[in-house]
Amino acid sequence: MNSSLIGFPRVGKLRELKFASEKYFRKEISTEELEQVAKGLREMHWNLQQDAGISHIPSNDFSYYDNVLDLTVLLNALPESYKQLGLSERDTYFAAARGYQGEAGDVKALAMKKWFNTNYHYLVPELFDDSEIKLAGDKPFDEYEEAKQIGVLTKPVIIGGFTFLKLAKCKGSKTINDFAEDVANAYIAILDRFNEQGVEWVQFDEPSLVTDLTQADVALFTALYEKVLAHKGNVKVLLQTYFGDIRDSYEEVVGLDFDGIGLDFLEGKQTLALLERHGFPADKTLFAGVVNGKNIWKSDYKKVIALVNGLEKFSQDIVISTSCSLLHVPYTLENETSLAPDVSRYFAFAKEKLQEIKELTELIGASGYENKESYLANQQVFSAERVYEDKHVQASVASLTERDFVRNVPRTKRRAIQKEKLQLGLLPTTTIGSFPQTKEVKQNRSKYRKGDITKAEYDENIKGFIKDCIELQEELGLDVLVHGESERNDMVEFFGENLAGYIFTEKAWVQSYGTRCVKPPIIFGDIRRENPITVFYSEYAQSLSDKPVKGMLTGPVTILNWSFPREDISLKEMAFQIGLAIREEVLDLEEAGIKIIQIDEAALKEKLPIRREEWNSEYLDWAIPSFRLCHSGVRPETQVHTHMCYSEFEEIVTDIDNMDADVISFEASRSKLTIIDALKANRFETEVGPGVYDIHSPRVPSVEEMVAVLKNALTKIDEENLWINPDCGLKTRGIKETRESLANLVAAAQIIKDAV
Ligand code: GLN
Ligand code: ZN
Repeated sequence: MNSSLIGFPRVGKLRELKFASEKYFRKEISTEELEQVAKGLREMHWNLQQDAGISHIPSNDFSYYDNVLDLTVLLNALPESYKQLGLSERDTYFAAARGYQGEAGDVKALAMKKWFNTNYHYLVPELFDDSEIKLAGDKPFDEYEEAKQIGVLTKPVIIGGFTFLKLAKCKGSKTINDFAEDVANAYIAILDRFNEQGVEWVQFDEPSLVTDLTQADVALFTALYEKVLAHKGNVKVLLQTYFGDIRDSYEEVVGLDFDGIGLDFLEGKQTLALLERHGFPADKTLFAGVVNGKNIWKSDYKKVIALVNGLEKFSQDIVISTSCSLLHVPYTLENETSLAPDVSRYFAFAKEKLQEIKELTELIGASGYENKESYLANQQVFSAERVYEDKHVQASVASLTERDFVRNVPRTKRRAIQKEKLQLGLLPTTTIGSFPQTKEVKQNRSKYRKGDITKAEYDENIKGFIKDCIELQEELGLDVLVHGESERNDMVEFFGENLAGYIFTEKAWVQSYGTRCVKPPIIFGDIRRENPITVFYSEYAQSLSDKPVKGMLTGPVTILNWSFPREDISLKEMAFQIGLAIREEVLDLEEAGIKIIQIDEAALKEKLPIRREEWNSEYLDWAIPSFRLCHSGVRPETQVHTHMCYSEFEEIVTDIDNMDADVISFEASRSKLTIIDALKANRFETEVGPGVYDIHSPRVPSVEEMVAVLKNALTKIDEENLWINPDCGLKTRGIKETRESLANLVAAAQIIKDAV
C-alpha cells in the first residue's frame, strides 16, 4: 500500500525557523544565514519522510511565514504598496506578512485570518482592479529541485486556484470571477514548469471545497479545472481536500480529469456516504485521509484497517494519507522528557505519525496482520484501562438538568438589582483583565518554576504586583478594577494547570501564525477542579479597594478550543466537565465577596463548524449552555461579564445574547464597530463594552479619537447599556503606554459622561 503526506510542520523540531526568523528581523543574521536554516529544515523533513517509506513526500509545504502568502507571491498578486518599498525579495515578503515601518516607508501587514477550523492563521490575499495574475516565482520548482538533489523525489504541493480565489479579498470593483481566467492560466504555466522538471505528481490543495458552496462556486471550480487539467501533460494531478467532506461538489469533482482525489475520512462526516452514493472512478487514485493530522492521539489500527478495507469496494487504487497537513500537530514526542510512559504511549505527534503510516502500509492487506508485532503493540494501548477516569465527574455531568443552565432571575430583572447594588452610574469604565507582563512579573513565575523561590515568596511577589495594579487603577480613576493576572502566563494554560485531567508538554509547539507558536495543553482524562484557583488573588485584590474588582476566569469553550481534546468522549461532554469546574470557582468567588465575575470566551467562535447547517446541532447547542452552566448558580446581584476577542459574531448575535451574561466586552476598534448594527437589529440585551481602542499596537490613542468612537457608539447603543474599555487584555503592552492610554480613556469617558 502506498502512502502520502499532505504537509509536514515547518518550524522545526525546536522551533529553529522561528528563532532564526526573529534574529533576521532584528538584523542579527543575514538573508543567507536564514536561508541556510530553512534549507537544513527542509532536508531534515524530507529525509525523515523518506526513511519512513512515505511514497508521496510533499515539497513546497515549507514556508517562511505562510503558504497562502507564498501563493500570493507566486501568482504575482502581492499588492503594489509592498513592492514600492523597494526592499529585497525576502524583505518585501516579510513586509506583507508583518507590516513595515522604516526608512523605506510605512505599510500595514496584510490582514490575517483563521485557516478554516484550525488555530493556524493565513494572510488574506488582496486583489485590486489592476492586479495582474500570472506565474511570477520559482519557489515550488526550486524546492522540488532541491529535494531531488538529495535524492528525494517529491510531490510539490500548492494551494489550488479555487481556494485562492475564495480566500482573496477584492479591493476594487472587480469580483473573483474577473480573475478566474488569469488564475487558470497561471496554474497552466505552473504545470508546464512541472512538466519540464519531470515531476510525477503535483498536489493542489482545495480546502475551500469543504465549505458551503453555491452553484456559482461549483461552476467556478469546474470551469477553472477544466481549463487547467487540459494542459496537465504528463504530470499527474492530485486534488487534495481536508477539514471536511465535499458534499456540494463531489459529482463534479469526480467527473474532472484529476488523477487522484484526496478525501478526509475523519472530519468528513459525509465522505463515506458520498462514495456509497456516487461511487469512485476506476481511473483515479483514492488518497484516503485516515490518520488524524489535527490531533495528537495514536491511531487505533483496528479501526483504520477496517476503514481502509471498507474502501476497497470503491477503489482498487488506494493511497493512505493523513487527514490534513501535519502542520497542526507538534513535531515529536521525543522532545518530551517528563511525560509518564502510561501517558505518552497514547500519543503520536508528527514524527510518530510517520511511523504509524509506515506500519499501517505494512499491515493493510497483509495476511495474519493481527499477529504482527506492530499491530499487537498498538492494540495493547487501546485495550488498556484508561487512567484519569473520574466516575464522580461523569455522574455529575450525566445528572445535569435544564435548571442547571438557567439563572433563576431573568436578565432584565437582574439589571435593576445590580445597578442598585453596584452603584456604578452611567457608562462605567473598566479593562479586560491583564495588565502589562513586566520583566519582574515574568521572572517571578520562572523563578518559582525553577524552584529558585518558595511558594510563599512567589505569592508575596504576586501580592505586590496586585497592589501596584490596584493603585494604578485607583489613580487613573477607573470604575471597575481588575487584579491584573500577574499569576498567569496564558489564560488557558493557567486553568489547565489547576484542573485534574490535564497534561502539559514541554516542547509540543504548533504554529499559529508566522513565528508565533502555541503549546496547547492536552485533555487527558475527566476534568475536575481540585482546589480553588483564583480566589486567593481576587480576594486579596478586592481587599485593597472599595470599588468592585472583577474575578477573572476563562470559560469552558475557550479552554476546550485551545487544548488538544480527547477522542474517546464528545466535545460536549468535555465542555460540560470544564463548565462544572469553572462553576465551582464562580461560586467560590461569589462566596468570597466578589461582586463582578468575568468569564472570558475569547475563542468561542474557533470551533464553529465549517458547515452552517451544523452550527447549532454540532456546536452552539452545547457550547452556549456550557457557558451558562458556569454562572447559572450565582445570586441575581452578582454581575457576570464575558469577553470575546473578535467582534466577528454578527451571524451568531442571538447565540451570544443567549450566553445570558450581564455584560460583554469585545474587540471592535479594528472592525470599525460594524457589529453594533447587528446588535441593534437583533435587540441585543446584554450590556456591551465595544473596545474603544486597539491594544495590539503600542500607539497611545488620543482623548478625541476615543470621544468620537463613544459618540458613534451612543448613536446606536442605549447609554444605560454601554461600558467603556480597551478591546482586549493589556498584557503585551508596556506600563508607560498603558498608563497614558488608560488616562486618555478615563478622560474621554468623563467628557461623554458630562455630556449625557
Ligand atoms: N482576561 C484576559 C486578559 O485580559 C483576556 C485575554 C483575551 O481575550 N485573549 O488578558
Ligand atoms: Zn481579547
